[in-house]
Amino acid sequence: MSGLTHKIVDMSEIHKFIFEGLPVRGAVVRLTDAWTEILRRRASNTTHGAYPPPVQSLLGEMTAAAVLMQSNIKFNGAMVVQVFGDGPVKLAVVEVQSDFSLRATATVNGEIDPHASLSQMVNVGNEGRCAITLDPQDRQPGQQPYQGVVPLFGDAREKLEKFSDVLQHYMLQSEQLDTTLVLAADDKVAAGLLIQRLPMAGRGNLSGRASQADEDQIGRNEDYKRIAILAASLKRDELLTLDVETILHRLFWEEQLLRFEPLQGETGPRFSCSCSRERVARMLQGLGQAEADSILQEREVIEVGCDYCGVQYRFDAVDAAQIFMGTPLPLPPAPLQ
Ligand SMILES: [Zn+2]
Repeated sequence: MSGLTHKIVDMSEIHKFIFEGLPVRGAVVRLTDAWTEILRRRASNTTHGAYPPPVQSLLGEMTAAAVLMQSNIKFNGAMVVQVFGDGPVKLAVVEVQSDFSLRATATVNGEIDPHASLSQMVNVGNEGRCAITLDPQDRQPGQQPYQGVVPLFGDAREKLEKFSDVLQHYMLQSEQLDTTLVLAADDKVAAGLLIQRLPMAGRGNLSGRASQADEDQIGRNEDYKRIAILAASLKRDELLTLDVETILHRLFWEEQLLRFEPLQGETGPRFSCSCSRERVARMLQGLGQAEADSILQEREVIEVGCDYCGVQYRFDAVDAAQIFMGTPLPLPPAPLQ
């Protein structure tokens, strides 16, 4: 190192494992640089500014969860986790590609109490929703991405106050998968632990809703129950402050874990935004020339900022003329709603 400061890079990582001989799998994700990059870009965005702490926690937990779920499926495309809120948080969205490049953003309108609960942010009038979308990389025009949507309520119509509960409920209701999730996020780390009972052989998730008998059967596995109880004993601050080895040892030292090579660095979770000037130009085309001209008359330049990465795209009258004179660009993919 010859006197140069050796910079220790705290890399984001995913550790997957299975419980040997048992129909249970798991994963731990710890996002450090990938998460702080999202926060740094938001904080330096003069239009929005830093997230209030409860929004930061929600978005961090969603990001960790989206990485866990992407790591759990064989799928070439984007895993998109969205919360559509009816309170001061209108939208929180995380997109994780199959190569674990990811981005996330939230739309906040109005004041947020520093101790605001999940429902006070996104489910004030009982209209909040969580959507999980799988958008294939090679999606054909007209093909709809796969999407499941759940309200932010439990089985007894109680408002759910933890995002992990929303997802556990989603996994059971929509995918018939018994899942235990522990999620936590602060201004440095977004982390999560997922434990899932492997689907039973010959029973896919495509046949619609499971019957009550099926659901009882799902919960009846003693091995899964034992491991789920251990997993659920993990505290938020342990998840945020302990390294993965320590977490797994503390929780599962009596279990036989088969570990996979962790994914980190180039192959691990990392921030990346897929926005481009061309995409914004296509969006302006969709807006129409009249609208673009009227903005240009007011401000001389059309400015479009990317909510994910903060990049500002500027189009002056010459740029706009090119957009509307040129051959029509292909339409952007349908927005995910
Ligand atoms: Zn961007």
